Amino acid sequence: MNLYHKNSALSLLALSQPAITLMTTLHTLGFPRIGQRRELKFALESYWAGNSDANTLTQAAQALRQRHWLQQRAAGAERIAVGDASLYDHVLDHLVWLGAIPVRFGEKDWSDPSAYFEPARGRDDQPALAMMKWFDTNYHYLVPEWSASTVFRPDPSALLAQLRECRALGIDGKPVLIGPVTLLWLGATHEPAFDRLSLLPSLVEAYGSLLSELAREGASWVQIDEPVLALDLDAAWSNAFAEAYRPLGDAPVKLLLATYFGGVEHHRDLIDRLPVDGLHLDLVRAPNQAARWLAAWPEGRILSVGIVDGRNVWRADLEAALQALLPLKARLGDDLWLSTSCSLLHCPMDAAQEVDLDAAVRRQLAFAEQKLNELATLGKALRDGPDSVAGELAASQSAKRSRAQDASAHVPQIRARVAEHTPGSERRATEFALRYRRQVEALALPPLPTTTIGSFPQTAHIRSVRAAWRRGEVDTARYEAAMREEIAGTIRLQEALGLDVLVHGEAERNDMVEYFGEQLDGYVFTRAGWVQSYGSRCVKPPILFGDVSRPAPMTVDWARYAQSLTHRPVKGMLTGPVTLLNWSFVREDLPRRDVARQLALALNEEVRDLEAAGIRVIQIDEPALREGLPLRVRERAGYLEWAAEAFRIAVGGVGDLTQIHTHMCYSKFDDILPAIVSMDADVVTIETSRSAMRLLDAFGHFRYPNAIGPGVYDIHSPRVPREEEMRELLERALAVIPAERLWINPDCGLKTRRREEVEEALRRMVGVASALRKQR
Ligand code: GLN
Ligand code: ZN
Repeated sequence: MNLYHKNSALSLLALSQPAITLMTTLHTLGFPRIGQRRELKFALESYWAGNSDANTLTQAAQALRQRHWLQQRAAGAERIAVGDASLYDHVLDHLVWLGAIPVRFGEKDWSDPSAYFEPARGRDDQPALAMMKWFDTNYHYLVPEWSASTVFRPDPSALLAQLRECRALGIDGKPVLIGPVTLLWLGATHEPAFDRLSLLPSLVEAYGSLLSELAREGASWVQIDEPVLALDLDAAWSNAFAEAYRPLGDAPVKLLLATYFGGVEHHRDLIDRLPVDGLHLDLVRAPNQAARWLAAWPEGRILSVGIVDGRNVWRADLEAALQALLPLKARLGDDLWLSTSCSLLHCPMDAAQEVDLDAAVRRQLAFAEQKLNELATLGKALRDGPDSVAGELAASQSAKRSRAQDASAHVPQIRARVAEHTPGSERRATEFALRYRRQVEALALPPLPTTTIGSFPQTAHIRSVRAAWRRGEVDTARYEAAMREEIAGTIRLQEALGLDVLVHGEAERNDMVEYFGEQLDGYVFTRAGWVQSYGSRCVKPPILFGDVSRPAPMTVDWARYAQSLTHRPVKGMLTGPVTLLNWSFVREDLPRRDVARQLALALNEEVRDLEAAGIRVIQIDEPALREGLPLRVRERAGYLEWAAEAFRIAVGGVGDLTQIHTHMCYSKFDDILPAIVSMDADVVTIETSRSAMRLLDAFGHFRYPNAIGPGVYDIHSPRVPREEEMRELLERALAVIPAERLWINPDCGLKTRRREEVEEALRRMVGVASALRKQR
C-alpha cells in the first residue's frame, strides 16, 4: 500500500494553504565532531603522545569543524550550530568560557591546548574531573565542580573566535550553549552543606556577559539547551528557571530554548513564562506534545520541532513526519523551524559508507548526513508542497514496506517462542537459601570464596593473533590453538594463585557485546558507525536489526576446554540480554522489552548448553542494566521489571546446583536494587572499591538477600593494592553482610591490566582471603 498516494489529500491541503508556501527554517542543534574517519581522535592522540604540536592539533580541529559547517549548509541547514565542536567535551568548554575551571588546577589560559586537557585527563598532582553519562546517552561529560568559593570569570574568546570563523565562511552560525540551570545541575559538590543553586545569580550574570559578547560578534540567535526540563524537577530546580531567565530575557540576542530526550509538558507552566523567543521540542520521544503546546502559543514565538531522530540510526518515515508537520505549518507559517530531535552528536556520520552491509539493511539506515537530507526533504515539502518531493516520499514509503516484509525482521518461530513464554515460569525452582547451601557443598567452596570477573589481560600477542586471523593471515586451527594456549596459561595461573572459582580469561573476545552480536542472528555491524563516548574514545555500537536467535553454541567449546584443565569450577561467561540491548542501536518496530526477551531466549539456549557441558557456575554480566533507566521516574519501575525478567529468562530452567552469577559496575545502586533482587542471581559481583564500599549501604543489612562479591580493588588503575587496603574494605563489608554470603573479587575484568600487575594483585587478594578465613 502506498501511503503517499493514499494520503494525497495532504498534498491538496498543502497546496491550498498560502501560508505553506513560506519559508521553513532548517537548523541544526549540534553535529558529530569526531569526523567520518575519526580525524579528531587521531589528531588528539598524536598530540597527547607528543608526536604533533598544538598548532597541528588546532588546525586539524579547525579544518574538521569548517568541513562540518559546510556539510550542514550543503544539506540545506540555515542556522548552523556553532560552539558544539569541542576538542574534548562541550561541558568542559563551558567551564572554560565561563571561567569556572576548579581552582585546584591553578590559573592558566584554559583555551590553550597545553592547559585545556589537564582538567579532562588529570595531571600528576591533580586527578581529572569526574565523568558522568550525559542523560540517557552513552556520551560521558566532565563533571563541573561547584563549591561555595566558585566564581565565574567569563572569557568566551574561544567561542567568539569560532563564531567569527563560521561567519567568515558566509554561514549564519547559531551559537549553542548549555543553559545555566542544566549546567549547575550537571555539576557536583563535595561540600555537604553547600547548595549548588546558590551559584545561580553569579552564573546567570556570567551568561549575560557571554550573550552580549556573542551579540557583538554578530549572533542573532543563540540556542540555549536545558535538557533537564525532560526530567522530574523539584520545586527548587523548577523555580531556578524563572530566576535564571528573567535577566537573560534582556540579552541583545534571540534565545531558542532547546529541550530534548523527552517531552517537557510537565514543566509547561514554567516554560510558558520564560522570556525566550523560541522553544525546541523533541517530537520523536514525545510526538504528541506539539499539538498540546499549540493550544496556547504566544504570537511570534518560534516553535522548533525535532522531527528526525537524533538518537538512532534508522531512516525516518517521511510521510508520517509530514503529516505531523502540516498542521503545525498551517498554524505557524514562518514561525515553524525544523531540526533533529537532539544534537546529532549521538549518531554516526554517514550511512553511505557502509558498503559492506547488505543493501536491504543499508536502505533502512540514516546517519547524520542522511538525517540532514531528510530534514531538507521535509522543509521542501512544506515550502513547495509534498508533490515537489514525491520521489523522496515514495522512496521512504518503499523502504518502510520492504522493512515490513523483511523476513529476517519477522521470524515466526522466534515470535512464537517469545509469545509462548509465561511470565514467572522462568523463576528458579528452589529458594535461594536452600539452593545456595547445596551449591556451596557441591562446588566444595570454602568460606569467603575468591573469584575474578572474567577477563584476564588482553596481551599484544592475543590481539595480534586475532587481528591476523581476521585478516585471513592465520588459519582458524592456528588461531584456536593460540587461544587455547592462553586459556591454559590463565587456568594454571589461577590454580597457582589459589583462586576458588576460575575463569577462562576471555582471550577469544574482542568486546563483550560484539563477540555475542557476531554469533547471533539479528545483529549487523558497521565499518565506520563511530559515536563519541568521551574525549578521543569512540564506540561502534552494533545494530539490532532483525529477530534474534542463536544458530549455534557460542562459548561452549571454550568453556568445556577450560573446565577440562582443572578440578576447580570454571565460570561460563556470558553478556546479559539487557547489556546486549543497551549497548546497541535497537530496531524501533518492536518494543525494547520484546527485543530483550528475544536476546534472553537466545542466551538461555547457551546457558542450557553450558550446563549440559558440565559447567557448574555461569556468570551473566549486566554492566549496562542501569543505562537503560528511563529519565522520568514514573517510567522506571516498568523498565526494571522487564529488564530483570529478561535476565531471569536467560537463566531459566537451570538446576538448583548450577550457580548463577551476575556482574555490574556502577557507582549507584539504591534505585535499582529491587530489580537486582528480583533477578535472583545466586551471586552478584559489583564495583565498590572506588566508593570505599559506601555502595554496601545499598546492599548490606539484609537489603540484598543473596550472595555478594563487592570489588576489593580498583582494576582501572595500574596500582597494585596493598593487602591492608583490601582487608579494611572486607572488614567493612563483613560488618553489613554475613560471611556466609560474602565473596572476594576485584571490581571488574582485568583485560586492560598488565599480567604482572594482575598476578601480584590477585596473590595479595587470595592472601587476604585466607587470613580472614583463619581468623573466623
Ligand atoms: N566479564 C567481563 C570482563 O571481565 C565484564 C566486563 C564489564 O563488566 N564491563 O571483562
Ligand atoms: Zn565490570
